[in-house]
Amino acid sequence: MGEPAHPLPADLRVFDRGWLSSTNVLCLGEAPALIDTGHAKHAARTVALVREALGGQPLARIAHTHLHSDHCGGTQALQAAWPETATWVPEPSLPHVRDWDEAALTFGASGQRCERFAAGHALRPGETVRLGARDWQVHAAPGHDALAVLLFEPARRILVAGDALWEHGVGVIFPHIDGSGGFDAFERTLQAVEALRPDWVIPGHGPAIVRAGGALEAALAQARERIRHFQAHPAQHALYAAKVLIKYQMMDFGQLPRAEFDAWLAGAPLLRLLHRQHRPDLAPERWVRDVVLAPMFDKGVLRQDATHVRDGR
Ligand SMILES: [Zn+2]
Repeated sequence: MGEPAHPLPADLRVFDRGWLSSTNVLCLGEAPALIDTGHAKHAARTVALVREALGGQPLARIAHTHLHSDHCGGTQALQAAWPETATWVPEPSLPHVRDWDEAALTFGASGQRCERFAAGHALRPGETVRLGARDWQVHAAPGHDALAVLLFEPARRILVAGDALWEHGVGVIFPHIDGSGGFDAFERTLQAVEALRPDWVIPGHGPAIVRAGGALEAALAQARERIRHFQAHPAQHALYAAKVLIKYQMMDFGQLPRAEFDAWLAGAPLLRLLHRQHRPDLAPERWVRDVVLAPMFDKGVLRQDATHVRDGR
C-alpha cells in the first residue's frame, strides 16, 4: 500500500471489526454519528467502543450504507444505550424497518438474525447528510445490495463504501440471486466510485484503501476481474454465495448441532435459489452435502464431528 496523500482526519475513527461485523466509522463533532453498526453478536462491544471514543458525549446519529445483518446488527443496542439517537437508512428500506418486514429486509431469506431497531430518516441519492463535523453526499451503490448507498465527504475526498468495494475481491451480488438485478449494476457502482475520485475508501470489511500509490486502482481492477468471471460463469457465483452464507452463519453461531444446522440450511430460501443456479441437475440434499459442504470440511473452513458443525477457525 502506498503512502496516503494525507492522513484520515482526527474527527473520523474507524473500527475495523473483521468479517462477521462490518467496519464502523465514528464521525466526531457536536452531534457524533456512527456509520454502520456491526453484527448483533458483537453489539455490546460496539456500544463499548463507541462509548469509549465519545468520552461522555451522547451518540446523536446512526447511518447505514445498507441493511445487511452485519451492518445494522448493533443498531438496536446503540439506540438502547442512547435513546435520543436519530437513525438513517436507505430510503426504500424505511417502510420495511418501520414494519420490521424481515423478508424485505433480507434477514428472512438468508436465515440471518438482526435485533429490531427503529429508523426515522431516509438516505436519498443526490442529497447530503450531516454526520459528525462533516456533510456527506449520498450516492446510489447497487450491485452487492440493490438499495445500498455510498457516503462521500468531498472536502477530504473520503468514501465510506459499505460492501460496494473491498481491497480484495467482491461480496456476493445478492440481486443476481433473486433475479432483481445483475452484475451490470455492480459495474455502474464501480464507475461511480471512480468518478468520485476518493483519496480514501473505507470499505465495509478490511483495511482502508488509499488512492495514492495505486491501491484504489488495484482494488477496482480486482473487483472488475472478479465480476467479469462471475458474468462468464454465473454458476460459480452461486457456489461462492452458498459458501459465504454458510460460513457467515457459522461465524455467528460458532457451532451448531448437526440437526439444527441441517434445519437452518433447509429453511434458508436463498440457498434453494443458489442450488437451482448452480447444479439443478443434482438433488438439493446431495448438492449441499457433496458440492457445497464437502470442500468446506476438506479445507477446514468448517469442522464436523458426529453431532456438531463448527466454525473452522
Ligand atoms: Zn452487505
